[in-house]
Amino acid sequence: NQKVVLITGCSSGIGLALAVHIAKDEKKRFMVYATMRNLSKAEPLVEAAGRTLGRTLEIKQLDVCDEASIKACVDSLPERRVDILISNAGMGLIGPIECQSIEEMKSVMDTNFFGLVRLMKEILPDMKRRKKGHIVVISSVMGIQGILFNDIYAASKFALEGFCESLAIQALRFGLNISLIEPGPVITEFERKVYDEGLKIDLSKADKVTADMFTNVYLKNYKQIFETLGQTPEDVAEHTLKILIMDNPPFRHQTNTLYTPMTTLKYADPNGDLPIETFYKMVFEHDKVFTASLNFIKLLQWRSRKSFKHNKMIKSNC
Ligand code: NAD
Repeated sequence: NQKVVLITGCSSGIGLALAVHIAKDEKKRFMVYATMRNLSKAEPLVEAAGRTLGRTLEIKQLDVCDEASIKACVDSLPERRVDILISNAGMGLIGPIECQSIEEMKSVMDTNFFGLVRLMKEILPDMKRRKKGHIVVISSVMGIQGILFNDIYAASKFALEGFCESLAIQALRFGLNISLIEPGPVITEFERKVYDEGLKIDLSKADKVTADMFTNVYLKNYKQIFETLGQTPEDVAEHTLKILIMDNPPFRHQTNTLYTPMTTLKYADPNGDLPIETFYKMVFEHDKVFTASLNFIKLLQWRSRKSFKHNKMIKSNC
């Protein structure tokens, strides 16, 4: 009675961690089809999968921007059955919009948003017919809250969230579940790729204030934000597995409790000004407040790790 799980974007980061974590489930509840665009990049997954390869994990080709490749992959599965779809493949883009081409922006939307749309068009009709299935989408906290210089990326994740929120109503009628996983910063290739691309941006098309804001405020704090708030892909995988095994999985799940105070601002003010003003103050008016907030978060982290160890000690003494 194994559930068939299809995951996209498994050559690195969260996708790789998800595939391995789910395939290594002790109760062997899942058969994982870990897919990637380019099979020549399978080595890290093969290594991490170890003995699960060929047992509870198989690697397949799937490009979320290519309908034919999605169809070929799904057609190759026994009875085309997918019990759980994890839509993870994605890409980032940072910088002032004046410096980005429409082509670059379209490729982010094509991967992050239309990638899921293509998968759903192929998989949802079968799930409806079987009246069984769970669609899990790796969104982001930027799916509910915009962040400076992430305009297009946040828009692509907002698009995902609107799409899923609309479909979730229909899905209920068929007994299907949809869950959005919303990680905060996660330390993966993504973070490094996005930062490196950010360094290469030709800022000559932006005015001085914008260029300075990007280089001396955004990029300057980028690494520190990941170092302070960043989770590991394994953390996100653990959270996701918990959602997979729930009888009534939630529609939204944030994986990073350190980030929750920021997203709560959104729900605290129906006018929507509170999060925007708070981010503005943090970034521009109070460079010191920003550093102090990060230090405060570091302290909270240190204390929660300490109490976690303490609780573990108590448990092991019992
Ligand atoms: P990553 O760059 O390591 O992984 C992204 C994966 O998607 C890569 O393996 C890449 O090859 C794959 N991919 C890109 N285009 C594809 C395509 N057309 N077809 C198939 N695969 C394709 O980064 P990650 O952090 O593991 O990102 C995974 C997901 O998590 C993304 O959707 C991302 O938006 C989301 N996310 C990341 C963070 C973060 O801080 N890293 C935070 C929140 C959400």
